[in-house]
Amino acid sequence: MQLAVEEAKKAYDKGEVPVGAVLVWNNEVIARAHNLVETRQDASAHAELLCMAAGAEKLNNWRLLNTTLYSTLEPCSMCAGAMLLSRIGTLVWGAPDLRHGAHGSWINVLDQPHPTHRIEVRKGVLAGVCSDLMRSFFQNRRLKEVGNEAGSIVR
Ligand SMILES: [Zn+2]
Repeated sequence: MQLAVEEAKKAYDKGEVPVGAVLVWNNEVIARAHNLVETRQDASAHAELLCMAAGAEKLNNWRLLNTTLYSTLEPCSMCAGAMLLSRIGTLVWGAPDLRHGAHGSWINVLDQPHPTHRIEVRKGVLAGVCSDLMRSFFQNRRLKEVGNEAGSIVR
């Protein structure tokens, strides 16, 4: 999870919502990624999806059986769906996402009984660190927005 936090910080430094993900297989990190929604202007460029895609490429297999995905944020419904489709073995997430979280904060995709696959989930790992990053990011963004508004009044 510490590595996922490092990824989240990379996103933060690029002005992206700070979410990072790491994929582990056989005790080895096979992929890491961070949110790139702004950079790519693509609402689906979430850290988890990018990380799963990179992992599938590395394994040359879209079935990510027996992998563990670490994400600094509770996954959204899109990513949770992709995790089921990819047959992720275990998911470990950090901070809850009250607006889009698909493990109970908004809806619960991951605890729904599924006919063919079940993902083990551990939540709240390094939650404080992950939440602080998010909070700091949005506070800074609000400050900048207020600054810009003030600037436009002066002009
Ligand atoms: Zn997502």
